[in-house]
Amino acid sequence: MNTILGDRAVVLGGSIAGLLAARVLADHYAEVVVVERDELPAGAAHRRGVPQGRHIHALLARGQQVLDELLPGFTAEMVARGAPVGDVLDEARHCFGGHRFRRGPSGLIAVCASRPMIEDLVRTRVRAFPAVRILDRCDVVGFATTADATRVTGARMIRRADGSAEEVLDADLVVDATGRGSRTPARLEALGYPRPRVEQVRIGLGYTTRTYRLTPGAIGGDRAVLIGPTPDHPRGGALQALEDDRHLLTLLGVLGDHPPTDPQGFDAFARSLQFPDIADAIRDGEPLDSPVAFRYPASVRHRYERLARFPDGLLVTGDALCSFNPVYGQGMSVAALEALALRRHLERGKKPRPTRVLRDLARVIDVPWSIAAGGDLAFPEVEGHRSTQTRLVNRYIGRVLGAAERNAEIGRAFVRVSGLVDPPSSLLRPRILTQVLRTSRRRPAPPASAPGDPGPTRPARRTTDV
Ligand SMILES: Cc1cc2nc3c(=O)[nH]c(=O)nc-3n(C[C@H](O)[C@H](O)[C@H](O)COP(=O)(O)OP(=O)(O)OC[C@H]3O[C@@H](n4cnc5c(N)ncnc54)[C@H](O)[C@@H]3O)c2cc1C
Repeated sequence: MNTILGDRAVVLGGSIAGLLAARVLADHYAEVVVVERDELPAGAAHRRGVPQGRHIHALLARGQQVLDELLPGFTAEMVARGAPVGDVLDEARHCFGGHRFRRGPSGLIAVCASRPMIEDLVRTRVRAFPAVRILDRCDVVGFATTADATRVTGARMIRRADGSAEEVLDADLVVDATGRGSRTPARLEALGYPRPRVEQVRIGLGYTTRTYRLTPGAIGGDRAVLIGPTPDHPRGGALQALEDDRHLLTLLGVLGDHPPTDPQGFDAFARSLQFPDIADAIRDGEPLDSPVAFRYPASVRHRYERLARFPDGLLVTGDALCSFNPVYGQGMSVAALEALALRRHLERGKKPRPTRVLRDLARVIDVPWSIAAGGDLAFPEVEGHRSTQTRLVNRYIGRVLGAAERNAEIGRAFVRVSGLVDPPSSLLRPRILTQVLRTSRRRPAPPASAPGDPGPTRPARRTTDV
């Protein structure tokens, strides 16, 4: 029997992080109200508040495991809805650091689905909890607090309907899951608190995405082709099988070298990648829509856990807490891990203490942040402090990627770390370390540019994207 810790928790934002927070709160609050600005669709559809949903959303292996834990049967339901699944290493092509990984069973499952479908299933499952109520078309405009502002006592909101007036939704706990544009830093300041320190890694990433119906066997039986950008070749792409026999192709470039949205330029960019698999796969494919772009200037981490003062009754989660370079595919999985961490606090049977929860959420973020921020710092043009450890790790990872070309055990160890299943230290196990040092090779030279495209540019030292 779960301990009920309060009458109502209010979650701001009804995307993945908000829904998963609501899922764990539903076991410990009499009512959980999710307040969402958008009108939520009845099924799997794009919506304004989640513009990134048009682009590839890889669910990391650990995210898939946690979703199955929080929402039992999640993977089976995704499969029943038509999501292709496969072994992460054996049924996908990984080309990272200029190396094509050798295949082999990883024991990890890749669930391939569009972002709207993932969100729709999570929303459907979370909405089914009797305690959960989702209020859509409601703008959160601020917090309600005690007179001395030491405690957040609710959320102020306005319904998106003519003649609406501001309402206060009282709450024992308010969880901000409004994403990257979260106003909590400004709202804290207005209440007399310091803003959290912000860490940023400016990667100047551009995504352009298009949906296809590919010819049968265009990528063999594989579920995905992943080509990562490297400092020598700052372009990449991900082609992923989806529900409804579609494939989604996201092309990407860092440090301002962005894929165009005109179809010819898009195709030429695909041909300029370091590996031909994606260009070959789409050559005879039928595009189902026009290319759409997304700009992602920087990974951003808010250090709320380091604030000396923070109001009671308030938490922050998901992208509002930390937004990762999406190339690493971490955001949804980290949101799921944060929900697990919050659940551990709720299960103690006492009202959660924000400073303690935020400290634990920071621990959840540490590893994925070190992977994403550390990986981005391998690009010499990206500004940021490179500790000796960062330099050594990046050099070693380069060798891991080289060794994965010949040795599937090393590829398996790598995808377990990048999938957030194993800690990065597992790549230093004696057996792996010895094989990496023995097997790794030097990076091959990048191929020539494709006709119609000037090829990847060495970017300028600073990005001016924002
Ligand atoms: C281009 C791109 C590609 C990505 N690819 C991947 C990937 O491959 N794998 C992966 O795991 N993650 C990926 N991510 C990250 C992923 O989208 C997020 O981490 C994930 O959606 C969780 O974010 P969130 O719920 O915290 O915030 P968001 O998804 O941004 O949602 C915030 C929600 O809050 C609502 N909201 C905002 N303000 C208000 C307000 N004032 N009142 C009420 N509601 C409000 C919005 O409408 C929205 O529903 C990608 C991100 C980007 C930008």
